[in-house]
Amino acid sequence: MASLKLDALPLTYLKGVGPAIAKKFKQLGISSVEDLLFHLPLRYEDRTKITPIHQARMGQLVQLEGEIGSSSIQFGRRRSLQCVLVDKTGIIHLRFFHFSAAQKNSLAEGTRIRCYGEPRRGRSGLEIYHPEYRVLQPGQEEPVADTFTAIYPTTEGLQQGRLRNVVNQALQLLDKADDLQDFVPAQLIEQFQLAGLTESIKLIHRPPLDAPLEWMNSDTNPGAQRLAFEELLAHRLCMRQFKSLYAQNNAPAFKQGAELTQSFRNNLPFQLTAGQDQAFAEIEADLGRETPMLRLLQGDVGSGKTVVSALSALKCLASGYQVALMAPTEILAEQHYDNFRAWFEPLGIAVEWLSGKTKVAQRKQVLTSLENGDCQVLVGTHALFQDNVNYRALGLVIIDEQHRFGVHQRLSLRDKAAVKNLSPHQLVMTATPIPRTLAMSAYADLDCSVIAELPPGRMPVNTALVSNTRRDEVTQRIQQACASGHQAYWVCTLIEESEQLQAQAAEVTAEQLQKQLPELRIGLIHGRMKAADKQQVMQEFKAGNTQLLVATTVIEVGVDVPNASLMVIENPERLGLAQLHQLRGRIGRGSVQSHCIMLYQTPLSENGKQRLAVMRESTDGFYIAEKDLELRGPGQVLGTQQTGLMTFRVADIGRDSSMLDDVKRVSEKLSADYPDAVDPLVNRWVGERMQFVNV
Ligand code: ADP
Ligand code: MG
Repeated sequence: MASLKLDALPLTYLKGVGPAIAKKFKQLGISSVEDLLFHLPLRYEDRTKITPIHQARMGQLVQLEGEIGSSSIQFGRRRSLQCVLVDKTGIIHLRFFHFSAAQKNSLAEGTRIRCYGEPRRGRSGLEIYHPEYRVLQPGQEEPVADTFTAIYPTTEGLQQGRLRNVVNQALQLLDKADDLQDFVPAQLIEQFQLAGLTESIKLIHRPPLDAPLEWMNSDTNPGAQRLAFEELLAHRLCMRQFKSLYAQNNAPAFKQGAELTQSFRNNLPFQLTAGQDQAFAEIEADLGRETPMLRLLQGDVGSGKTVVSALSALKCLASGYQVALMAPTEILAEQHYDNFRAWFEPLGIAVEWLSGKTKVAQRKQVLTSLENGDCQVLVGTHALFQDNVNYRALGLVIIDEQHRFGVHQRLSLRDKAAVKNLSPHQLVMTATPIPRTLAMSAYADLDCSVIAELPPGRMPVNTALVSNTRRDEVTQRIQQACASGHQAYWVCTLIEESEQLQAQAAEVTAEQLQKQLPELRIGLIHGRMKAADKQQVMQEFKAGNTQLLVATTVIEVGVDVPNASLMVIENPERLGLAQLHQLRGRIGRGSVQSHCIMLYQTPLSENGKQRLAVMRESTDGFYIAEKDLELRGPGQVLGTQQTGLMTFRVADIGRDSSMLDDVKRVSEKLSADYPDAVDPLVNRWVGERMQFVNV
């Protein structure tokens, strides 16, 4: 097997992977065995011991083993399968909302199982919702894990157990095959003291137990460092490529529109802040040139980026070019659509809407008006850039909330040339404050404008940290706020390995709250709902018809309901500070004092305490971002998934910031001396595997 080529080996080569499962993997961007090896864990769990049931505690992940004492279907608002698990020390309930008949039968009374999950307080004492479990055969002695158990990003219908199993097979093949091809030249590996690629991959999938802390704290882990380095390198190369390619293009120069922008400003009910003025001046200068602008507009939540983008749009429109405004979710896109229509239609500017959900007839109409130039501003989701969407003269692309989109998506815009040989200008807006030092590296392909202040007169949100043991008081607070005419959010968080689990957590919470507060009109929103239903729910909330909105973190981005003045965030200790800041930014938009209650799970680690204290003390996004990087400690394993910063698979620009200089140097050397290595590296980390955001 010496010539086994893992990158050419299809997944179906592995045991247990048929065409149907292969398709699931494809959704994760994995089609070869090599791809699988680069599908890296989100985090690790310790399943090296079995906890006696009486030691299980709310909110703490445990592995339990016992016998099913009874198993029955419960008919509540939602059907569920409830099993009682018994060991010598106690009992606990397991609950499944989605289950098959076969699954029910396999969990019959007397069956011995081992399961893993997080106990919550349920209807009948401690309950675990949807534990991961395995049925044990009678008499079978099943050894516990002897490495940390990797938890992988996954998709619906692909269980962690199966993922681990196929990764195991891939790792075994790696032993037999040639090493993975290392695209970083040997000379650079030596010069920069990087670890070997193959050993790094092995280490990261199956970290040994003997050095757990060193492992968790990846600064000292050569394997993770190597992969992080390579990933950062690939991203940098990709951005450089993108920037230099883009800079070779020509763009239309927009020199007109001074009157239009002035009268728009005069009609605003407020004055621009100095920061908005400055940012627009920078954009205006770029738009006046014949090189395409690639500019990042950074500004904290509520700093007023939208108005600045509207002014930029007017410059483009004044020269007869079209504007496309893209947001990562339907909810956010629709909000922009409303704003732009309100601002532009009185000026006689035609604003249209396009999303993946737009009906065929409507879509046809929009596409036609786009091609003949009747439509001047098109707002929507990434549907704006699908193949058959043709602009007559696209002059400016505005992308909101950058961290949800990657470089790869911007790459796809490159081809939407305005008029022959003219590329559109690009303005990217992000509410994720990124410390300056990092911004340079994270967005090596973009120039940067910052709106550093908020409009005057905003009342900072008052933040309280409350232990989960005082949940009932919090419920009372919700009732009081709603009784006096205000609205509230209740945000459920889960470690984000599956949208399905998140959605379930929110459903369960909504159900419980409705029981406790029967007179309250409660809405529910999560990522698994149909777009039309989500919109409906948001509309109801905006209109004040629902008083409390129970949500997953889908509401994080951009949602604007000024009457909402109270937010409860469950398990805030699980989120990055940047993400908490984003969430909290949904309130404090009206004229009354707003409150955010961070309902944390006890016991809170020392690091957790410090981090949440930052949220209580500050509402300054940049300060919070700096602290987030500083306080990100062991245990917050790999990647930036939960921080709201750029999403890498292994790298973390905060933790790995000390590498950035070397990354820069290596990228320059590589481009100059080993140009052939550039494409393979970019492809491995940024290339084909990248998918469009699911909206
Ligand atoms: P973000 O930067 O988070 O996208 P928005 O553009 O949504 O912020 O602006 C938040 C709110 O502040 C909007 O209601 C907007 O009309 C308002 N706003 C924007 N600029 C100003 C300003 N200079 N003075 C007062 N209010 C402003
Ligand atoms: Mg915004």
